[in-house]
Amino acid sequence: LHRPLRGGAPRVLALANQKGGVGKTTTAINLGTALAAIGERVLIVDLDPQGNASTGLGIDRRSRRISTYDVMIGAVSLGQAVLETAVPCLSVAPSTLDLLGVELEIAADKDRAHKLRKAIDDLMQHADEGEAFTYILIDCPPSLNLLTINALAASDAVLVPLQCEFFALEGLSQLLTTVEQVKTALNPRLTIHGIVLTMYDPRNNLSGQVVADVKQFMGSKVYDTIIPRNVRVSEAPSHGKPVLLYDLKCAGAQAYLRLASEIIQRERALRAA
Ligand code: ADP
Ligand code: MG
Repeated sequence: LHRPLRGGAPRVLALANQKGGVGKTTTAINLGTALAAIGERVLIVDLDPQGNASTGLGIDRRSRRISTYDVMIGAVSLGQAVLETAVPCLSVAPSTLDLLGVELEIAADKDRAHKLRKAIDDLMQHADEGEAFTYILIDCPPSLNLLTINALAASDAVLVPLQCEFFALEGLSQLLTTVEQVKTALNPRLTIHGIVLTMYDPRNNLSGQVVADVKQFMGSKVYDTIIPRNVRVSEAPSHGKPVLLYDLKCAGAQAYLRLASEIIQRERALRAA
């Protein structure tokens, strides 16, 4: 079993792609669960007003009395928003539809792009030894709005889910440009962690072509692990469970476990470099 580093700052990864339906939320939930299963302490920050990550982790709307909206407007600390999930070592800061209005509410603030960064810094300062998170995964909304900018400004790296479909690469250059802009203006340490191909269907010739195209365009940034299209993955959220709890043996759950170990290996290589 791999032994996570203790005492250091958590790695903060944003799951971003301005396209909806590409697997951001599914990857946040299941990568988060897989990382927790191999010994990490993980916090998922739900930054999408739709709140699908919160729902998929079994947090019903009534228990979201404190949400990332309250965190973003500075009314509460991030720690106050954190809820435990059914998965040991996996917590979530849930979102509510209030988050839709946050952009307007903070628009006039000088530090509007750094609200989440501040909240995470504050959480790190107050985390007791041993209880500290080792990974924070931010589930972004399907837009390059101020919420996503906050996520990018708060992150060490971006993880981009791309669906294996004909228009997969469409919009990727725009996302990469935004990442470069945030890097220049707000967060010099930001990097692209990797591209995760999702909903791969081996029966569809197009899927294979998309994998080849994306690899040609993004090279080694593409993770070796490809997430297959798997009905168990899409069923799990309606049970309020990550697929690793719903059906550990299914191809989707196993792929997310492989992705987690691949990510940890990349992290080790980065630290050793
Ligand atoms: P996003 O957060 O980017 O909008 P989601 O993670 O919500 O995307 O995924 C969009 C839809 O696709 C959801 O209904 C989800 O259950 C389904 N889905 C995601 N990944 C898979 C997969 N590997 N196999 C089958 N369905 C999937
Ligand atoms: Mg989503």
